[in-house]
Amino acid sequence: MPSSLYIDGAWRESSTGRTHEVRSPHDGSLVTTVSEASVEDVLEAIGAARRSFDSGVFASWSWKERSDLVSRIADLLERDAAQVAKKESDDTGKRLIEAEYDVADVVATFRHFAALGLKEHDHFVDVGLAHVTSRIVHEPIGVCSLIGPWNYPLLQIAWKVAPALVAGCSFILKPSELTPESAIHLIKLIEEARAPRGVANLILGPGSVVGNALTTDPRVDLVSFTGGLTTGKTIMIGAAPTVKKLALELGGKNPHIIFADADLDAAIDNAVTGAFLHSGQVCSAGTRLLVERSVHDRVVNEIVRRAGEIRLGGPADLNAETGPLISQSHLKTVENYVAKGIEEGAKLLVGGKRSNREDLKQGWYFQPTVFDGCKSDMFCVQEESFGPVMTVEVFDTEKEAIAIGNDTIFGLSGGVWSQDLEKAARVAAGLRHGTVWVNDFGPYRPQAEWGGYKQSGIGRELGSHGLSEYLEIKHIWTNNSPSKSGWFHDSSGGDEK
Ligand code: NAP
Repeated sequence: MPSSLYIDGAWRESSTGRTHEVRSPHDGSLVTTVSEASVEDVLEAIGAARRSFDSGVFASWSWKERSDLVSRIADLLERDAAQVAKKESDDTGKRLIEAEYDVADVVATFRHFAALGLKEHDHFVDVGLAHVTSRIVHEPIGVCSLIGPWNYPLLQIAWKVAPALVAGCSFILKPSELTPESAIHLIKLIEEARAPRGVANLILGPGSVVGNALTTDPRVDLVSFTGGLTTGKTIMIGAAPTVKKLALELGGKNPHIIFADADLDAAIDNAVTGAFLHSGQVCSAGTRLLVERSVHDRVVNEIVRRAGEIRLGGPADLNAETGPLISQSHLKTVENYVAKGIEEGAKLLVGGKRSNREDLKQGWYFQPTVFDGCKSDMFCVQEESFGPVMTVEVFDTEKEAIAIGNDTIFGLSGGVWSQDLEKAARVAAGLRHGTVWVNDFGPYRPQAEWGGYKQSGIGRELGSHGLSEYLEIKHIWTNNSPSKSGWFHDSSGGDEK
């Protein structure tokens, strides 16, 4: 087994010798074996990141030098795209073509932040005093713990690693233990691109073992986390005693609203994609369908027909349209979620169980599922399944559609379909979600901010704000004509106020 922890510029095994087997979600076969870090390894990695940051070895690079580094990493990712996509596909079980799209998005992310780094960051402000120069400068925030999920493993960490490097931070990266391979490859490329020693560190291991040290250690300045709401809350609590900066990208339960005057063919097709892409393992999945009553039957019948035809299959199946769930325990969670939906009165129209195909029996495949007759207060409507389960609710008015769409603790994304663009704009304005698609569902670009309202998170990734998360802002006030303040009485005869 090659050493797979990267600490202070060196690849090594866990100090305890512990390892973890990565298994294919498609058939349970062994993909690879990696090191599993101990808490001592984490503390060492934090120490290395802290030393490199405090030494100024990287923070003192110019913006241009750091942008060039990030551009070099983008070039290397392009060079290795096929290899990285294969690793991502092996770990997640997703089709190779989807992993290839993901890697292209990763490259675009690195290019975006490299370009952003070249823009002017600092500026002068006019404080109304001729003798004062007042300057606002941006500096790296410091040592960052970067923690990612398993659904888009490399993409989600790219949204953190690229801005952290452009900003001049040092970091400890921790991908999900289920999907570590692409992160290992990325760190190798960062090494090849010649980042200074100690800037990039990689820790592998379950969050339950390594998470606490990564998110509570006083030497860490910022925690950037993408994952579930429960973990996010635990991290907030752990970060509080040392008032760490937090960037949290959490779950979503995303309303997809179809009005009767929509282009229904396009709306239905996008509703199927929005809910069942990557078997629903997408934070912004449109799994909560809201449909205007007069077109309910047409829309739902067609979605059910299409959902029943979706072909499941593994990474190598060229005819497959979507893949397995990530793990057996996640499959169990989705099964329980569906059982609860049926119990609380949701009408199961299609799917609802594990795939019964003989050739998929070794993997974690779940059938695309549609629940009709749902109400806002149901568990299956309010909770994220993170699986291929769509719930359907009806509405009669624009106001009602907005109210239902906002009736959730989450606020990540939503979609609205109508050919009346003024109405669509009113609904988009009314929805309290971080991204709203009008007559579309799902696309994003690194140039635009991504993140959630309410309990979907704190802060934004991507766009220009995605870089700001990694910067501190300093105001430097320079008095070019120094004089006494004169505030307190000076018995030696100084000026009084
Ligand atoms: P998760 O269970 O919360 O895990 C996310 C990461 O946190 C993993 O690396 C995990 O490690 C680690 N972790 C677990 N416990 C931790 C702790 N106590 N302290 C620190 N780190 C800890 O989430 P997931 O199941 O991987 O991902 C699915 C969730 O992510 C969904 O809710 C989805 O909506 C959300 N998500 C959100 C976005 C967004 O942009 N808003 C994007 C993608 C996913 P191990 O897995 O190795 O134990």
